[in-house]
Amino acid sequence: MFAGEVPRLFCFMDKKSDVTIREILIYMKDRLERVGIKDSAEDAYRLLCLVRDVSKSDLILKGDETLTEDERIRLFSLLQDRLRRIPMQHISGKADFYGREFKVNGNVLIPRQDTEILVEEVRKNLHGDETVLDMCTGSGCILIACDIGDKGDDKAFAKGIGSDISAKALAVAKENADMLGADNLEFVEGDLFENIDTTFDIIISNPPYIESLKIAELEPEVREFDPLEALDGGEDGLFFYRRIIKRAPAFLKKGGMIFLEIGYNQAKEVTGLLIGERFSDIEVIKDYGGNDRVVKAVFDI
Ligand code: GLN
Repeated sequence: MFAGEVPRLFCFMDKKSDVTIREILIYMKDRLERVGIKDSAEDAYRLLCLVRDVSKSDLILKGDETLTEDERIRLFSLLQDRLRRIPMQHISGKADFYGREFKVNGNVLIPRQDTEILVEEVRKNLHGDETVLDMCTGSGCILIACDIGDKGDDKAFAKGIGSDISAKALAVAKENADMLGADNLEFVEGDLFENIDTTFDIIISNPPYIESLKIAELEPEVREFDPLEALDGGEDGLFFYRRIIKRAPAFLKKGGMIFLEIGYNQAKEVTGLLIGERFSDIEVIKDYGGNDRVVKAVFDI
């Protein structure tokens, strides 16, 4: 659909505009590309899909149709938002993760595809009767995806707690749990283990792990729209791993496991911290992009 030339500049707001869906898609792709958006064609589709409330394949079949004035006005406004680098997921209010759709907003980190490997790894170790703690739960996507998987709604563990320092994030997590039928979860506000008073079979965490000074180098969608407190891992990125790993043994049952998402260059340091607290069976797992992404370990003493 994007094979043609960018059409003559037309005015979206022109009441008599008889511009077609195909032309609008080409126009939007071009505008998005010019501000440095990589998936410009995909985002052009998504914006128009939102306005028309249809799927991408429906849109492709209707390339010759024109838009109503209301649709043009709405599309223009969404395009301006995306040109300001507001993430698609904030514009739509939704993010896909592990085969499910989660509600998101500016109070939570947008779920990343790289994190699906963490869910995959945890689910391999679930048998149905475990208790699970997800530290820094954010939108709740990890805990909920571990619980209900990508199909059906059978619970993979007995009880889960999602903890976060942000009440606003927890409101999103609760909404997601309700929406997706994960009714064996509870959400607790607090600074890491502050308000946790029981032990678990499994602790999971994807804490903030970006080095403070590296945040300025991230894409605008991340550095301006993901909550800073969900990204910033302190000077060396390890601030939260140190605190979590130090206290985790007190909150794990004997033989309990910890699963941590890590940055691509943090395996050595995080493994070292786990060894320091006498964790065993430490394993580093790569994501589908080939980068170290998850560290898992057992606490057996
Ligand atoms: N993985 C996220 C990113 O690449 C960072 C999330 C985090 O710090 N846990 O932006």
